[in-house]
Parts: sequence; structure tokens; C-alpha cells
Amino acid sequence: LTERLQNAISKLRRKGKISEADVKEVMREIRLALLEADVNFTVVKNFVKKVKNRAVGAEVLESLTPAQQIVKIVNEELIEVMGEEASPLNKSSKIPTIIMMVGLQGAGKTTTAAKLANKLKKEQNARPFMIAADIYRPAAIDQLKILGNEIDVPVFEMGTDVNPVEIVRQGLEVAKENKNDYVFIDTAGRLQIDEKLMNELAEIKELANPNEILLTVDAMTGQNAVEVAQGFNDQLDVTGVILTKLDGDTRGGAALSIREVTGKPIKFIGQGEKMSDLDVFYPDRMASRILGMGDMLTLIEKAQQDFDQKEAEKLALKMRENSFDFNDFLNQLEQVQNMGPIEDLIKMIPGMATNPALKNLKVDPKDLERTKAIVYSMTKQERENPNLLNPSRRRRIAAGSGRPIQEVNRMIKQFKQMQDMMKKMSNGNLGGLENMFGN
Ligand code: GDP
Ligand code: MG
Repeated sequence: LTERLQNAISKLRRKGKISEADVKEVMREIRLALLEADVNFTVVKNFVKKVKNRAVGAEVLESLTPAQQIVKIVNEELIEVMGEEASPLNKSSKIPTIIMMVGLQGAGKTTTAAKLANKLKKEQNARPFMIAADIYRPAAIDQLKILGNEIDVPVFEMGTDVNPVEIVRQGLEVAKENKNDYVFIDTAGRLQIDEKLMNELAEIKELANPNEILLTVDAMTGQNAVEVAQGFNDQLDVTGVILTKLDGDTRGGAALSIREVTGKPIKFIGQGEKMSDLDVFYPDRMASRILGMGDMLTLIEKAQQDFDQKEAEKLALKMRENSFDFNDFLNQLEQVQNMGPIEDLIKMIPGMATNPALKNLKVDPKDLERTKAIVYSMTKQERENPNLLNPSRRRRIAAGSGRPIQEVNRMIKQFKQMQDMMKKMSNGNLGGLENMFGN
């Protein structure tokens, strides 16, 4: 799909300005991207409409192509819908802060309660406490106890014969006595929402008056996640959402749908079964994941920010004069390193994304470091005048940088090819770029 999108984008690149038809074309791909990411159909429809309205007639920033501008708008809107900033846990003014976990069976409530308790313990030196209020699923209590043991957090339980509301009542008393600062209530789930479950949860809510009711949703349930979220939110007025199982293939469209439909912030994401696999939810990261465009968005941003016009002009002049030397090369390497993965950088260059020669291009960041080490071992004169680099100087550089002589030779050869290529490029010819990093 990303390929399709890039095709659409490179087509647009060759035109000068955005027409309504162009917006339509890019948005068709965006729409598919969202649907493939399992964003709810209605949510997609509304979203696309909103972006279309904003994109048509929008000004194109100087450093971007019209298509990049559209993608930028899409990305900004995605981030806005998902809440812009990370959303922290609500905290009670006096201890304990009470956190109630709700959600369908298997969504990850029990695991996530323990993960979160563990996180608070590690990051804030907190003293959490967990209450086992799921009496329906055999082994649910044991599961919580095992996790509690693993992270060294006490678990309160009364077996499976006591009413969950009573368990919570007594559990809270113990936590208050012990001055625990966070209490997690691990509740039961069902395979689907039913009245009995909701009534029980409502009773627990009324008794415990929690600071957070965290709805735990399995991100892999995709389209279905919306109905679940809506159901729980209607009944319990949840305060936040945790999206679990984002370590799989899922692109996380549920994040967008749930936020749009419930208006409730997504606070954390689960990315694995281990206790450490819980992360703060960042809307911008999720936006690029949903779009499935990896670092391209970052590059759009960075291309804008990092591009120093003056440097570029100076470089262009040097290229024309063919005075591009190792100092410029070093500068270039550093700029490139600041901009992220080179593979993606190259794909940003018009026409390169679809160039078959670059399809499997991989650049090891360590190669850049090694190359830099070699340049650092050159004297000032050598950097300014690469023609000085005779065999004895090369041997000295190899020794100084700790790299084999063959590597030094190869690097200098590549540098000379690059000088040549730059000369060609300054004459308006892009050919040969693919040789720059391949060897
Ligand atoms: P509950 O029924 O809602 O309490 O769900 P559990 O906490 O028992 O989790 C159900 C299963 O999902 C367990 O096997 C967990 O290890 C697993 N699980 C929970 N969160 C994640 C996650 O973020 N990633 C993965 N891969 N598995 C998870
Ligand atoms: Mg459970």
C-alpha cells in the first residue's frame, strides 16, 4: 500500500500545484490506508471529508511538494483527533489513587494492571496494591497473584465465593490501612458486553469512586473495538483507554476510531506480554503507524527544518567549482545522520522512491561512523586537498582511524566518485546517485 501511495505522490510531484482532482487522488489512497489499518468505516469517511476540506485551497509550503503537503495535513489531523499530547494518569489529591480496569475477557486487563503497577513502582517509587475482583474465570486470581509476586506488589483476594463488590470494599480498606498510594481493581470481563457484567461494574464504580476507569481494548479486534469502547463508555463513562497487543501486525487504527467515537484519551499502549511492555501513548507516533508511512513523515518535517538554505547555496557553488572536499563531505555526513535513515532520505528525492535499484537498499549507520573516523584521521591539508592522499598518507590514516587500509582506499575512491557525481548533478543530472552508498 505504501508503494501505491508513493506512486500517487510521485505522480503529483511532477505537477506544480494541487488541483481538486489531485487531492482526490491522494485521499483515495489515504482512505485505503486507514481502512487497511482497521479504522472504523464511518470514522474514515468523516476523517477524509475533513481533510479534503482543509487541503483544497491550502497553501503549499515552499520546501514541500503539493502531495507532501497533503500528507502533512493528513498527519496533523490524525494527531489532532488522537489528542495531540500524551495524556497522564489522573491522580487523587490524597492517597490512594484508585484505578479500575474494565474490558472484555482477554483484552489484557489483568496483565495491564500489573504492568502499570510495575511502571509506577519503578518510575515513581510508588507502593501499589492490587485487588482480585474477577471471580468468574478460573485461575484469574492465580494469574494476578503470580504477576503480583513477579513485580513484588501485594494482591488482595477472597477466593471465588465472595461477591466482587464486597471484595473491593474490603480490599480498599486494607489498602488504606497500609497506606498504599495506588490501588488497582482487576475486574471480570465477558466475551461480549452483557447487562450482568455492566451492573456489577457499575456497582464497583459507585463503591470505589475510582480516579481512573481504564478501558482495556485489544487492538487486534480492529473494527469491533469501536462497539466495545462505545458500550463500556456509555455504561461506565470511562476516563481513559489502554490499547493492548500493539506488538503484532496491527497498524492500530482502533486508536483513531476509539478516540473519535468516545472522545476519551488513550493513555497507554501494550506492546508485549512482559511486564516492561507498556508504553505511554503518543498521538504523533500512532499517526505515522496508522498511515503506514514509517519515517517519511519525520522526513517531511525534518526536510523542512534542517534544510539550511545558505549551506545549500554554498554547496551548490562548490559543486560547480568542483571544490567539494572532505570537510564538506563530513558536514554532509553529519547532516544526513541528523535526518534519520538514509534509505528513507533517498526515497524522498523525486523519482527515487520507485527506482528499482534502490528497492533493497540498506545502509548500516555504523558505516557512517567508520567513514567519519577515517576523515577525522586526515590532516587539515589532506581534507582540503584529497589529491595529497598518497599510499604512505593512507597507511597513516588507516592506523590512526583503526580501519583497514582497504577500507580507507575504498572510501577515498567513493569520495572521488561522489565528487564526479556532484559535478554531474550540478549540471542537472541526478544519475549515479544510487552508487553513492552501494559498494
Ligand atoms: P483479561 O482477561 O482482560 O484480564 O486479559 P489478560 O490480562 O489475562 O490477557 C490475556 C492475554 O493477552 C494474556 O495471555 C496476556 O499475556 C496477553 N496480553 C496482554 N497484553 C498484551 C500485549 O500488549 N501484547 C501481547 N502480545 N499480549 C498481551
Ligand atoms: Mg483478567
